[in-house]
Amino acid sequence: MTGELSGRVALVTGGGRGIGRAISLELGRRGATVWINYSRSEADAASCAQEIISAGGAAEVVQFDVGTGDSTESGVKAIADRSGRLDILVNNAGIAIDSLLMRTKGADWERTLAVNLSGAFYTAKSASRYMMKERWGRIVNISSVIGEMGNAGQAAYSASKAGLIGLTKSLAKELASRNITANCVAPGYIVTDMTSSLSEDLRQSIQESVPLGRLGTAEDIALATAFLCSDGGGYITGQVLGVNGGMYM
Ligand code: NAP
Repeated sequence: MTGELSGRVALVTGGGRGIGRAISLELGRRGATVWINYSRSEADAASCAQEIISAGGAAEVVQFDVGTGDSTESGVKAIADRSGRLDILVNNAGIAIDSLLMRTKGADWERTLAVNLSGAFYTAKSASRYMMKERWGRIVNISSVIGEMGNAGQAAYSASKAGLIGLTKSLAKELASRNITANCVAPGYIVTDMTSSLSEDLRQSIQESVPLGRLGTAEDIALATAFLCSDGGGYITGQVLGVNGGMYM
């Protein structure tokens, strides 16, 4: 498929469902070969790959748990070995285990940091090796408005997403000389499985706190992410792009 990302190879972690799926589809539409990572949802990853291929693009699926350093590093290496390169990394995989501080189990705190923050560290560490060789790379970490604002009942999630911002800024400084950019996209409240358990009342009150008057869609996040991955985003690095309808400025 021809497009502005034609010839580029991308990895989207958690790329088969929700926001990740929309990102995979958008990168595929723009011509990238998309590796769709999943940990449990194989059927979703496979159907996402099929959707890209049916539209004339190229996609593959790859299983690894980003919360486990060894399997993440070997998963990224396997992609680069198969494709001969890796140009774009979108760290989208994430979990939210919400509970008030006093009730938060140590294991839940650690798992949240392992998946949401350490996962991005291990993928970036592995992928940047291949980007450096090409002297071109794009890393986009999907943070959250909650990493910027904090939220009661989300200490672990918020800390992991704030940590991603620090990681991103350091990567941006360290990798800039090799023409590799690193940015965060920080979504507001987006309609996906992750937010499907919100009560109708809470959903209504969140919507009222959004100046643009609606919750976001996965496509809103995908378009911002794809822009940062494109040549048009080439002079943007170390930034946090809030895609939140104005709920946090
Ligand atoms: P979602 O619908 O729950 O999907 C989560 C994705 O992450 C799935 O594809 C899942 O794949 C993958 N994943 C989870 N644990 C994984 C692991 N250990 N290894 C590999 N993949 C894993 O969530 P979403 O709403 O699309 O969220 C996507 C990202 O956006 C997350 O980082 C989230 O924190 C962030 N975000 C979401 C919102 C929102 O309002 N929805 C707001 C701000 C930020 P498997 O099913 O295969 O595990």
